[in-house]
Amino acid sequence: MNNRIEKIAQQSLQNREISLEDALYLSQVKKDEVYDLFYWANKIRLKYFGRSIKACSIVSAKQGKCTEDCNFCSQSSHYLTKIEEYNLIEENKVVNAAMCAENSGAHSLGIVTSGYTINNEYEFENICNTIKTISRDSRIHPHGSFGVLTKEMAISLAKSGLKRINHNLETSERFFHNICTTHTYADRLNTIHVSKQAGLEICCGAIFGIGEETEDRIHLAFTLKKLDVDSVPLNFLHPISGTPQENSVGLTPMETLKIISLFRFILPDKEIKIAGGRGKNLRSLQSWMFYAGANSTMIGNYLTTSGNPAEEDLLMIKDLGLELEIS
Ligand code: SF4
Repeated sequence: MNNRIEKIAQQSLQNREISLEDALYLSQVKKDEVYDLFYWANKIRLKYFGRSIKACSIVSAKQGKCTEDCNFCSQSSHYLTKIEEYNLIEENKVVNAAMCAENSGAHSLGIVTSGYTINNEYEFENICNTIKTISRDSRIHPHGSFGVLTKEMAISLAKSGLKRINHNLETSERFFHNICTTHTYADRLNTIHVSKQAGLEICCGAIFGIGEETEDRIHLAFTLKKLDVDSVPLNFLHPISGTPQENSVGLTPMETLKIISLFRFILPDKEIKIAGGRGKNLRSLQSWMFYAGANSTMIGNYLTTSGNPAEEDLLMIKDLGLELEIS
């Protein structure tokens, strides 16, 4: 057993912040020591979450035609992708998705719309009404991702019953301009601040395999720690044909698992959710994500790519002796 990894893990087990230098060390471990890293990440997960695993589902309520140029995204109008585009779907379709998610064992449903923000008043009101209906008629926790928000929008969403907002930082501040030029890191940070002030829980994470360096991953993890977010979704690039990232090679399963462990060490008591690109990057090691430190995952389809059938994921959780957290 590697003594240094154990020593760093003891700090995370006591919820004491690890140093940048230690984070760098963890992200560079190789060969057999990688298994020590997973061993301790698993111990940290067990300490804060026991056997409990959260599963969430999402519905893509408005898709494509986005004005922004995030270079990994199939929904950007800057790139020629084969994505199906549509305007905001009717309330009953989102409510049905909530019922299906509840029946499939999901804890929450994320309502996701493409675009920089929701700048159409009618659409925003429609979304608020849908959230009210889901809160009233189902057990599922309504979460949402609506792009950049003003303080007023965040307050209205919270009043409608939205529990949690998702707004990813995607990468480190210093690398962000390499993946998006149409808005700034500060825009994203501001949405997180106003959502927090409105009393919403914060789900904020990243995408990996987009050309970032180890240091970017570490800086991002410490930024999220400072922001004291509630949930950290980790996405791994699934290259989309037509985007600037179409030829990116992606991560190996071991690199992917090491990123999960690194985030568990830095954010010991936060929900770490494995989201898009799980199948593509983890391949046959998908069940290892929990041993590497994750305590949450998305089930069903991702935003614009397909996932495993929900039943298969639920069976995986059961086969591992873990327990699904029911809402
Ligand atoms: S990630 Fe969001 S903001 Fe960026 S292009 Fe895609 S839908 Fe638009």
